[in-house]
Order: sequence, then C-alpha cells, then structure tokens
Amino acid sequence: MAGTARRPHTLDASLTRILCISAHPDDNEFTIAGSVGRWAREGRDVVFCLVTSGGAGTNEHTRDNTGLVPVRERESWDAAKILGVKDLVFLGYQDGVIEPTLGLRRDLTRVIRRCRPDVVVSGDPTVRWYGNEYLNHPDHRAVASAALDAVFPSAETRVIFQELLAEGLEPHKVKEVFISGAIPPDTWIDIGDTLALKCAALRAHVSQVGPGEWIDDLLRAWALRDGKRAGVKYAEAYRRFVLDRG
Ligand SMILES: [Zn+2]
Repeated sequence: MAGTARRPHTLDASLTRILCISAHPDDNEFTIAGSVGRWAREGRDVVFCLVTSGGAGTNEHTRDNTGLVPVRERESWDAAKILGVKDLVFLGYQDGVIEPTLGLRRDLTRVIRRCRPDVVVSGDPTVRWYGNEYLNHPDHRAVASAALDAVFPSAETRVIFQELLAEGLEPHKVKEVFISGAIPPDTWIDIGDTLALKCAALRAHVSQVGPGEWIDDLLRAWALRDGKRAGVKYAEAYRRFVLDRG
C-alpha cells in the first residue's frame, strides 16, 4: 500500500531446511550471508551448493590459478563455519563457462532431492546487468536458470530424470524460493544482528578479497540501502515465491 512502511520478513518456523545454490565460492557471502547467518542462528539447517570451485578467480590478490581450487574450497568451508552453514556441496563445474544445460539441471535436481529443502535460495537468471558498473556474470545467470528449473518442475515430478529414482531419490516439492538480486525485490530479511558475520565470512575468501579493508564499508552500504526500504537499519532483499502453502 502506498505510504505504508514495509516490514522485514520472518521465515515461518516450519521452514527448517534451506538450500542456497550459487555459481562461485564467494557469491553467497557477497549477497545472502546475513540472512544465512540469521537463519542458522534460528536453528535452521542451511546447506550451500556451489556449482564451481572458483578455479577462474584470478585477480590482483591471486594472479595465477595453479592450485586455486583446493584453496577456494577451504576458504568456502571457513566462511561456512563462520555463518553456521551445516554442509557444502561442490558440483565441480568449470568456472567461467557454465551453461544452463539439462545436465546441470539434473545435477541440481539430484541435490534438491537429496537435501529435501523447504526453501531454495538462488539468483535472478533474468538480470543482465546492475546499474552502470556491473555486467552480471554469465555463470550467475546460468546457475540461477538451472536452479529454478530444477526446483520446478524437475525436483517434484516423478517422470522427469527417472535415473534419479534409480538412485533412490524420490520427488521433492520445495515450498518457497527466495531470489537474491531480483529487480524489483519484494521481501526483506533484517540482518542487523548478522551483518558483522557476513563481513567476516566474506573476509574468509582471502584469495579473492586480500586484506579486505573495503569489505565492511561495501557490505554496510548495501545493507543500509536495502534496510531503508524495509524500515530497518540493515537488510538483504529478495523476490519471494510461495510454491506450496501446505
Ligand atoms: Zn560469482
């Protein structure tokens, strides 16, 4: 309603299992880690599925990618521990060249049927750019696209990917989907108590952020921007889908 202050959203207590699907080891720490830290503190089980292990993550801090994959996997575990994430699943795709193939959709369907999450969190496959300074990474779009297609219809439909039935993986219906980076968002999570955790978790990705003295300012600015729209100090923004009210 026009003029009415928005309120932050609280995840229903019945939604205890959360699966976050992203392309690169640090994607969640840049975007949704405040919510993740909060949900973990609330006693929910959060699992990260990382489609690549970030082998193309060369930059001013890491100029050569020799031996980078195990480093990035270790950094991912360090960040996950800070946030209270229960488990990490690495799919081992090659960084930088992901496409939303049926094979990726099948692999993500397998992860969903194994984890059986109430909520899946992913990115927005339709966004090509943000503002005038960032062209959205094609891996982000490809993973988000395959993830949404895995949620619906693949994960819940028995006759799709019947080879998964042979692996003992029964269909599973996801109840809610949170899309990070959606334009416009419609749902905000209050991260006032976990912004510091988010900053610490991103700092764990040393090969990517170096000393990371810019991290607190950047993440605080984003959280302030999103918090303003939700009527709280710090927030993360999403578009939320309710697929199953039962
Ligand atoms: Zn990324």
